[in-house]
Amino acid sequence: MKNKKFGLFKGFGRAMSFGKSSAKVYVKARTGKSFADVAGQDEAKEALAEIVDFLHSPEKYADIGAKLPKGALLVGPPGTGKTLLAQAVAGEANVPFFSISGSEFVEMFVGVGAAKVRDLFGQAAEKAPCIVFIDEIDTIGKKRDGQTGGSDEREQTLNQLLTEMDGFDGNKGVVILAATNRPDFLDPALLRPGRFDRRIPVELPDLAGREAILRVHGARVKLSSGIDFSAIARATAGASGAELANIVNEAALRAVRSGRGCVGQSDLEESVEVVIAGYQRKNAVISQKEKEIIAYHEIGHALVAAMQKDSASVHKITIIPRTSGALGYTMQVDENERFLMSKEDIIAKISVLTGGRSAEELIFNTCTTGAANDIEKATKLARAMVTRFGMSGKFDMTALETVNDRYLGGDTSLVCSAETAAKVDEEVNNIIRTAHEKALQILSDNREQLHELAQYLLDRETITGDEFRAILDKKAAVAV
Ligand code: ADP
Ligand code: ZN
Ligand code: MG
Repeated sequence: MKNKKFGLFKGFGRAMSFGKSSAKVYVKARTGKSFADVAGQDEAKEALAEIVDFLHSPEKYADIGAKLPKGALLVGPPGTGKTLLAQAVAGEANVPFFSISGSEFVEMFVGVGAAKVRDLFGQAAEKAPCIVFIDEIDTIGKKRDGQTGGSDEREQTLNQLLTEMDGFDGNKGVVILAATNRPDFLDPALLRPGRFDRRIPVELPDLAGREAILRVHGARVKLSSGIDFSAIARATAGASGAELANIVNEAALRAVRSGRGCVGQSDLEESVEVVIAGYQRKNAVISQKEKEIIAYHEIGHALVAAMQKDSASVHKITIIPRTSGALGYTMQVDENERFLMSKEDIIAKISVLTGGRSAEELIFNTCTTGAANDIEKATKLARAMVTRFGMSGKFDMTALETVNDRYLGGDTSLVCSAETAAKVDEEVNNIIRTAHEKALQILSDNREQLHELAQYLLDRETITGDEFRAILDKKAAVAV
């Protein structure tokens, strides 16, 4: 019922500290991290290498009269290694690293945040060359919206930060790095030249990046021989570096739990599922009737996927319930990394999402709540087709929605009239209806396979994509 999906990490909790900040010394002499600890992210490393070089030999830049950017802003979704990269820059440059999180500036008492900023830059100036790293800068650097009340403190802090950034001489060797996952919310004053004028995107890793990250973290645990990291990387499209690090750690924990001395392929595979869907609920009691419905539902997804040429291939189907609440799921894995999705791809995907419910309707003549998650996803995709991707005939290439926080879940807001919104709903509904009808058609054309595969899945609870295809191909061979 759940397709592959990775949640985002939410904000980090932090203890509140009171009083004046002068007692606190921000410097942390060595981060102990280097670029070798950051896998993938080659473009980001390249951009930062220049800053490292500048910290090594500022004269070289001063001689020619070049001014390096005072600040660089690392921008990307949570868990992609922004904090890690900043630490690696300090490690590579071998300079002191002043690190503070934006939320630490924002205190209950007006004026404390600004004093902290002054402090921080005062200390940094003494230790130059050095790096000042402001993590989660959006907490102080939010756009000033002119509203009063509650934001006074933040505004003062931000103003102080701007003043400090303008005040010091860039050639002294204080480099300011900052990280955020909400770049659209930053005050434009922060982004103007002479401040954070260099923007370094730190995106979710691609296939090669994921494999590299798995290797870096894999090197820290005992692995059995012949681990296929590329298979794990293929199964984790959309995962961040932090999630991949977590997968390796989960695998190590699982190996210990089962009394083995090293991490095997199956540990890694299982922990991918733990991260996607939670732990197995071994003693969940599910009635035979419900199990049957779940099995048909999942095979419904898988069959619709298999019968459409634009779908990613089925990797695994399971009806073992998980702690996330998923009662089963069908994992699809693309052979190759995809960067674009065509209209046909999206429509095929929506069909696959409706395939679970379609199987319930076709075989049991009923529908269950199990499709709730599928419905949500299908609707999101169909809506995006109409409002953002210009894929519906009716509205051509008109943008009808804007994405607010693209690194944090990507909530959207409508930018069209109420009449248009009503028409959008109609279009979305049409797309889903058509996809649903197609799924029903595919399943009723392959009813026999649906029965056989569902029975097979009921017997085994988990089947691989190869087993799935073997049964499909056998049937096809008989038909010829
Ligand atoms: P961010 O600051 O972007 O939210 P972090 O730098 O805090 O992410 O990353 C959290 C953890 O995830 C890191 O400590 C590291 O273990 C792992 N990680 C993230 N990205 C990478 C990467 N590119 N290479 C290796 N490990 C990574
Ligand atoms: Zn489903
Ligand atoms: Mg961070």
